[in-house]
Amino acid sequence: MAYYGPEVALLPIITGADAPILRTKTKSVTRITKELVKLLKDMDETRIGSEGAGIAAPQVGRSERVCIAMINKVPVALINPEITWKSEETDVQQEGCLSLPGQWIDVPRAIEIIISFKNTKGAEQEMKLRGWSARVVQHEVDHLDGKLIVDYAA
Ligand code: ZN
Repeated sequence: MAYYGPEVALLPIITGADAPILRTKTKSVTRITKELVKLLKDMDETRIGSEGAGIAAPQVGRSERVCIAMINKVPVALINPEITWKSEETDVQQEGCLSLPGQWIDVPRAIEIIISFKNTKGAEQEMKLRGWSARVVQHEVDHLDGKLIVDYAA
């Protein structure tokens, strides 16, 4: 992420498993505008303020297919992310969600994934991720598809 100034903008976080915006599939971004880059910056500051490992546009009431995910301990802005491959091997770990305060749910996830996305400069990127980073990205991409961790609850 690029930071442009000292001002911090915390966005309100939408909560509740039934909130309509959290259940709506996002729309692909066709143009990377200054406004979109500002949104991603504000989302990351909101994520930091809430101590989250990631944050997706629907969580701040938006419908663009964008999110921020901690990847190898660095926040990365993902525009139009798609998981193009998942390992068959999975593991189960407890996850929380900024939109579901106080809930911790065991979620099975692929241990390794390949993800493609655009960065804020519009460049196509591809990354192979493993472990916690792969888990965070799968959680955020779920948000972009209207899916929440409660959907995995037994
Ligand atoms: Zn979440």
